[in-house]
Amino acid sequence: MSTLPKVAWIGLGIMGSPMSENLIKAGYQVTGFTLEQEKLDRLSAAGGTAAGSIAEAVRDADVIVTMVPASPQVEAIAYGPDGILENAKSGALLIDMSSITPQTSVDLAKAAKDKGVRVLDAPVSGGEAGAIEAVLSIMVGGEQADFDAAKPLLEALGKTIVLCGPHGSGQTVKAANQLIVAVNIQACAEAVVFLEKSGVDLKAALDVLNGGLAGSTVLTRKKDNFLARDFKPGFRIDLHHKDMGIVTDAARNVGAALPVGAVVAQLVASLRTQGDGGLDHSALLRAVERLSGAQV
Ligand code: NAD
Repeated sequence: MSTLPKVAWIGLGIMGSPMSENLIKAGYQVTGFTLEQEKLDRLSAAGGTAAGSIAEAVRDADVIVTMVPASPQVEAIAYGPDGILENAKSGALLIDMSSITPQTSVDLAKAAKDKGVRVLDAPVSGGEAGAIEAVLSIMVGGEQADFDAAKPLLEALGKTIVLCGPHGSGQTVKAANQLIVAVNIQACAEAVVFLEKSGVDLKAALDVLNGGLAGSTVLTRKKDNFLARDFKPGFRIDLHHKDMGIVTDAARNVGAALPVGAVVAQLVASLRTQGDGGLDHSALLRAVERLSGAQV
């Protein structure tokens, strides 16, 4: 019999599916719930158990992990008679790995405390590849004791796992992460258009750039998307639009100016309005191309 905690996993999307499968590979018993039947079938095929509802998934769980798109979905799965808080065991640990507003995490921790449920906010960075390879960076907010309890499980999902402070701190750090990633992709996209218009061999240029100070994890991970113009997500523009909203709002609340971030937030919003919201965020290249006169 396994002595590992029993896990419920809610939200088996681009990130949640490979992450939950890494827990199964590490020996955890995982019961999952998500909206798409094919994702539930994928969980069963990987050795997990598909549940018919959130209540069914969380009833016996020691640890509940959630990985859904944004604050409204976290609130929808956490609250109400069919939600996590009403149906979880007292003493269960809820680890929300979705990227949401810091305030939603603070409110959730407060509401959960009344129900005897402990909460960590633990958003991640590293993308789909990082999820598959179990090398995510995990930025955590909450109590030290709960972090210590969660650490072995988080180590099956990621490599860099850091407690950043009280509830909501993980989300604040994730918001900063999304600012850095978006600005970096935008700079890479501008360089790509500049290089192509200049007639330089793009692959050679990106290879040498990535070996110098201009190199980055973003360039390493997105180089092939730029070269092949392959914008299959990955990380959807719709989600990055949500994150740019979170970071610009949070920065305004603390009086931090983000002039470059604000411009990139507008470019992401514009790309979405043009119908590219379902594409990978490397599709920021399309926005720069359009601004530079291309019909894409
Ligand atoms: P996704 O859209 O692929 O998956 C979201 C999943 O949540 C879906 O399977 C959906 O069924 C499920 N869901 C939504 N509402 C639900 C509900 N009421 N009940 C049960 N399940 C529900 O999204 P994703 O790309 O996996 O991203 C998830 C989170 O991780 C987001 O907050 C995102 O910002 C963050 N994130 C994504 C990436 C990435 O590269 N995709 C990287 C880091 C962080």
